[in-house]
Amino acid sequence: MGLDEGILNIELSSDDDYTTEPVLDEYTFKMAAALRQAKIASPAKSKTVQCACGMLVVKSNCILPDGTPTNSLAVHYLAHHRSKISLEELEKISRLKLVYNPEEEPPLTQKVLTPRKR
Ligand SMILES: [Zn+2]
Repeated sequence: MGLDEGILNIELSSDDDYTTEPVLDEYTFKMAAALRQAKIASPAKSKTVQCACGMLVVKSNCILPDGTPTNSLAVHYLAHHRSKISLEELEKISRLKLVYNPEEEPPLTQKVLTPRKR
């Protein structure tokens, strides 16, 4: 069973802090692996939005393999908006059951960190 309330379904306001240098740790890597296994819930509802950091990003609702809802910006939030992410959200990522091998995961490129529409 997944978490009904989802992971990282958060709203940032435009004055929120962000870091240009991505935070790349176990949370970022695990969430990236989770998103690779996720399904886009309703592709027609994907939309380009301007994130609090000013980047144009594609936001889609996603469903993780265990049924937990999240969104395509989860990795971007972890990498560039870490100070706005509560411990509770990080704990949800820790508890997330996910089968993946960190050593076989592709590297986190900017495209993964900042999903941007071409
Ligand atoms: Zn951002």
